[in-house]
Amino acid sequence: AGEEAVGVVGADVRVPLVTGEWVEYANFDYAASAPCLTAVHRRLEEALPYYASVHRGAGFHSQVSTDAYERARRSVADFVGARQGDAVVFVRSTTDALNLLARSVPDGCTVVVFEAEHHASLLPWQHRGSRAGRVVRLPLPASPGEAVEAARSALGSAPEGPRLLCVTAASNVTGEIWPIEELTEVAHSAGARIVVDAAQLVPHRAFSLAATGADYVAFSGHKLYAPFGSGVLAGRTDWLRAAAPYLAGGGATANVTEDGVRWNDLPARHEAGSPNVLGAVTLAAACDVLSAADQERLHEREQALLRRLRDGLARIPGVHDLGLWGGDHPRVGIVSFVVDGLAADQLAAALSAEYGVGVRDGLFCAHLLTRRLLPSGHTQAVRASLGLGTTEEHVDRLVGAVAELATRGPRWNYELVDDRIAP
Ligand code: PMP
Repeated sequence: AGEEAVGVVGADVRVPLVTGEWVEYANFDYAASAPCLTAVHRRLEEALPYYASVHRGAGFHSQVSTDAYERARRSVADFVGARQGDAVVFVRSTTDALNLLARSVPDGCTVVVFEAEHHASLLPWQHRGSRAGRVVRLPLPASPGEAVEAARSALGSAPEGPRLLCVTAASNVTGEIWPIEELTEVAHSAGARIVVDAAQLVPHRAFSLAATGADYVAFSGHKLYAPFGSGVLAGRTDWLRAAAPYLAGGGATANVTEDGVRWNDLPARHEAGSPNVLGAVTLAAACDVLSAADQERLHEREQALLRRLRDGLARIPGVHDLGLWGGDHPRVGIVSFVVDGLAADQLAAALSAEYGVGVRDGLFCAHLLTRRLLPSGHTQAVRASLGLGTTEEHVDRLVGAVAELATRGPRWNYELVDDRIAP
């Protein structure tokens, strides 16, 4: 696939500044949701005329949609390197995927998580409907090696019975890549399983269940250059098959009588209701495009942009780049930072209103991690995340804007400015 295949929709959209000038939008919020690939948009247009309920209608459109939906499942299986017999369940998002797994683990399962997790992977295990028993939260590890040792010791000392380690492959706060192969080995040698939250990894790097040996993987379409509303849980079938259906309703049922219900097998068992066919088809289209792309070239390009951004920010006095494991640890294209003397929300508002740069500010749904990484005096951070539409000009504009704002401060107090111009 060439350059064009990995182009994003809306790359040339212009946005208004407070000065009245219009500039090309510099999107640095890919980690929240990435714009659609143009190829995904085309696939959506192809599928739309056949819009119909899958697994239900007998009409031609239903047949086409059902076929597209099941082909999408095969594309996703290839994308995540699913092993023979692994399940691919379409869900709404990574959050949905991990909540499904929390309801599918064997009763009383010990779950080990790190405090570094996104709330989607930190919280489902202790939430309503979860079948997990003890949840062990490991403190932030000072190094990848410490993460591996902490997991080894927690899993090794857990009570007999089912155990699950849940780890995010790439942090949505720091971009840092976690040692998934080693953690998988540790989990397996302790007789445990591992689920990998790959929401932030797969938009940047390939991930394979077969190659890593991981038991489950979860990710979202909207971070992978597809529209909102679709996600995936893929992996081992036995726990999922033994669990009660995630939702009760049509599609999950094989037979309903006055006396009871016979539920379907996987994957329909956990896909009750009319499936999101366009969500699955577009997510799969993104998987296909990324699998066929020259991933090495894309990776090098992104790493060069990331270096340019981090080097640029490092030259600005008062800027702190948040990281758990030091500057050289491999990262995907995500940088969270703070600027001394500038509140993160004011900085983010000024970047948008004065420079047309879209970032995110806050604690990024990873409160435990982000708070621990903040230098004293700061309560929130700004996150700049890169993707396929990011250019050197965007990076230079962001760095230049932060340098100016660090010196002169925002033009306005954005809390007081009309929110139409300071969104
Ligand atoms: N895990 C990670 C690492 C994430 O970054 C996110 C999204 N910020 C999620 C899970 C949740 O994804 P979604 O909102 O699509 O459910």
